[in-house]
Amino acid sequence: MIEIKDLHKSYKMGSNSLHVLKGINFKAEAGELVAIMGSSGSGKSTLLNILGMLDEADSGEYTLDGVPIKNLNETKAAKYRNKFLGFIFQSFNLINYKSALENVALPLYYQRIPRKERLAKSMKYLEMVGLKEWSHHLPNELSGGQKQRVAIARAMVGEPKVLLADELTGALDSTTSYEVMDLIQKINDQGNTILVVTHENDIAHMCKRIIHLKDGVIEKDEKVKQVRASQYV
Ligand code: ADP
Ligand code: MG
Repeated sequence: MIEIKDLHKSYKMGSNSLHVLKGINFKAEAGELVAIMGSSGSGKSTLLNILGMLDEADSGEYTLDGVPIKNLNETKAAKYRNKFLGFIFQSFNLINYKSALENVALPLYYQRIPRKERLAKSMKYLEMVGLKEWSHHLPNELSGGQKQRVAIARAMVGEPKVLLADELTGALDSTTSYEVMDLIQKINDQGNTILVVTHENDIAHMCKRIIHLKDGVIEKDEKVKQVRASQYV
């Protein structure tokens, strides 16, 4: 599903340059649940943003579901992002003046799906995350965990090939984090490919594989026995 080879990325600031990714190689098959772990500043978000086509590497190869991702114009990049990828962020990134249902429906709006179909499909995904009764509420009427569930439904509604989550539990207390990870595990059980960036060891062990980033390279890439989040919720 995902293959990257010798990926490099530097940030330039004036005459200085910070080499963040120094040759990253890995493959993820369809259906994997992978944690990308590393301390703050280790380049996790940089890597995820490249995988999410929100940013471009300086060099190296990236293939997503057999498609080489390189030198895409913004129209094509946006089309691939819609088709292949769903994003989940630490800060939820919901639109405050839109209801939970309208937030979930947004990706379908950009795909020009007719309104009725959009809302019906979005309702289905809100139901999947357990928020059917909250569809008409605004984000500020929801708890942190509920907001993240709305964001997960929004990431799923376009039926992407891969879900990319950047510190999705970073703003949540531990019980709520485990509830959200329980949902992520259930989505992965359905066969979805998911990459979870985290600096938290317990969250990483709820995945099936952990890639450790350190000093710009993969220090360790290990299969782990998955800890089920349901035992904590
Ligand atoms: P992580 O997500 O693991 O905390 P990041 O990928 O956000 O790490 O950042 C890696 C390093 O790159 C950090 O030192 C950060 O300060 C730097 N960095 C990230 N984004 C930028 C940017 N847009 N411009 C300059 N430096 C950046
Ligand atoms: Mg980060």
